[in-house]
Amino acid sequence: MTTDLNETLFNRAKATIPGGVNSPVRAFKAVGGTPRFVKRAQGAYFWDANDQRYIDYIGSWGPMILGHGHAAIKAAVHAAVEEGLSFGAPTEREIELAEAIIKLVPSIDMVRLVSSGTEAGMSAIRLARGATGRSKIIKFEGCYHGHADALLVKAGSGLATFGNPTSAGVPPEVVQHTLVLPFNDIEALEAAFTAHGSEVACLMMEPIAGNMNFVRASVPFVKRCRELCTEHGALLAFDEVMSGFRVALGSAQSLYAQAIPGFEPDMTVMGKVIGGGMPLAAFGAKRAVMEHLAPIGGVYQAGTLSGNPVATACGLATLNEIQQPGFFEQLGARTASLVSGMTHAATAAGVTLCGDSQGGMFGFFFMNELPQNYATVMTTDSARFNRFFHGMLDEGVYFAPALFEAGFVSAAHTEQDIADTVAAASRVFATL
Ligand SMILES: *Cc1c(COP(=O)(O)O)cnc(C)c1O
Repeated sequence: MTTDLNETLFNRAKATIPGGVNSPVRAFKAVGGTPRFVKRAQGAYFWDANDQRYIDYIGSWGPMILGHGHAAIKAAVHAAVEEGLSFGAPTEREIELAEAIIKLVPSIDMVRLVSSGTEAGMSAIRLARGATGRSKIIKFEGCYHGHADALLVKAGSGLATFGNPTSAGVPPEVVQHTLVLPFNDIEALEAAFTAHGSEVACLMMEPIAGNMNFVRASVPFVKRCRELCTEHGALLAFDEVMSGFRVALGSAQSLYAQAIPGFEPDMTVMGKVIGGGMPLAAFGAKRAVMEHLAPIGGVYQAGTLSGNPVATACGLATLNEIQQPGFFEQLGARTASLVSGMTHAATAAGVTLCGDSQGGMFGFFFMNELPQNYATVMTTDSARFNRFFHGMLDEGVYFAPALFEAGFVSAAHTEQDIADTVAAASRVFATL
């Protein structure tokens, strides 16, 4: 009999860390079973406590767009470590990273660096409220913007009502200004602006939602969001923590700008890829909005480790690599080939599956057609998803351990990795 060292570690972790994990999804609660404890990772793979290898389609939930252990990234991080870990004083690299972000995302004039997507989203909301002098915010059901209190909200009953907290510990008064609407629903959006438009500080959305699997905001929906925000003096905030530098070099907003001439969000929230695996996130906007931030303006925001020198070195090196000619063309083609390979394999096995991808981000559903909102995503046969997930895990393929999460392909995934994954999926589909 062999010992499962993942299980040994999980049991030990549960004694000192709530649920044995430092972020809930890692506990495998949705899919059951024992989480894999990662020992090390290289390229497209990681190895667990049993030295079992997995093809990694999570990549730390998005940041590892180059794969693990990329030589240029390691060199940049090692060099930065030699110079010092943290100063609490400004550095040139912060300017370089700000300049790199602004060059690639033209809707941003100025950017502030922080340490997590949660912090960035929370600060962007405060800034929007401070800049507009308004309190209300609009978010969409199924979009995740980090775990700031005001954003942990689900829809109340009825259309265009204010939401209820989704977490214990969030007083109802804290979410009383948060309006939660169904995604891709233009009618509900118009009704909300008709009722509350003059009080709305900002509308925050994931343009390609990756926290309800993979759901694109439709072009007409984004267009209407833009028009209504402009008409009512509200700021349109794109949360590109996941999609930023992941779906395209110019992020998701560059794709909507191709479809909607002149399109720009007013604010952008970023994280994940811009840190390349280190704790780093950012929020940016036009100069007039950003100058409301302290020390120039009255909106307070700060961080001991903000703009950390090792994190900025890692982020800069990552942004440098993804600007290589053809990077997103190749990544996008490889990701699309995974999705088409999987859907064909499913069809051949008589399993209903559909999928979608953009750049290095993908999703698939045990459904006939792609869902447009959270309620539809949640009608997925979760028992079937869980059997699929565990089947793939046994085959050495690591997909997201929950059906409401997107997946990620990195530049280190080879055609052979994709072919091996599709072959494994064929075997697993046959058992469903
Ligand atoms: C991951 C994520 C966040 C939160 O970022 P953290 O770094 O985990 O705090 C916010 N918004 C979106 C869209 C995300 O995917």
